[in-house]
Amino acid sequence: MFADGIGVKMAARWQGLALSENVNGTDMFPLLCEQLEMNNTSVYLLGATPCVVAKVAKRLGTQYPGIRVAGYSDGYSYSERKNELKSLINQSKADLLLVAMGAPRQERWIDENIRELNIKAAMGVGGLFDFYSGEVPRAPVWLRELSLEWIWRLAVQPRNKAKRYLIGNPLFLLRVVLTPRAPSKPSRGAIL
Ligand code: UDP
Repeated sequence: MFADGIGVKMAARWQGLALSENVNGTDMFPLLCEQLEMNNTSVYLLGATPCVVAKVAKRLGTQYPGIRVAGYSDGYSYSERKNELKSLINQSKADLLLVAMGAPRQERWIDENIRELNIKAAMGVGGLFDFYSGEVPRAPVWLRELSLEWIWRLAVQPRNKAKRYLIGNPLFLLRVVLTPRAPSKPSRGAIL
């Protein structure tokens, strides 16, 4: 999980923690790819629509020839192709599985399936495939720097994002303020 978004930033501040940077899968991706190339890592891509994930596989192979795209599957047919999908991933011999199904669906999927997969690591990357394929435009940097990327995403995909940003996020913040703050320093003799 990344410390991604203004909600996490506000929750952290409420708990007395200052996050220095917003971290998300899309911004981390070029850095990750450089490392994957250096280590000749193979990747399986899971998530988004069939057309989008195919575009990602193609672009990734061209932009980073050192990365082997071991295979890819869309993120909508996973429930009816449960066992087939696991076999495909295992047969691909991928080292890393990138799961782009949006949070928290991707985290749940990873949690339910990771024990049956012969991969070294799996990572949830949210809307990365939509951005990397060029299907969905990313917010301008200045808006991201103001921690207002959510407004852009709501404007670009109002039907997909309204529930999350207009209901889910205020609810999350309400839960945060109802959660007792952690003591700033453990007192002597505290059970840790
Ligand atoms: N998605 C998917 N399966 C689903 C629902 C969504 O693969 O059942 C994909 C969708 O096509 C898109 C991504 O998940 O590529 C949505 O991610 P979102 O923008 O919600 O990610 P986040 O905001 O968590 O980064």
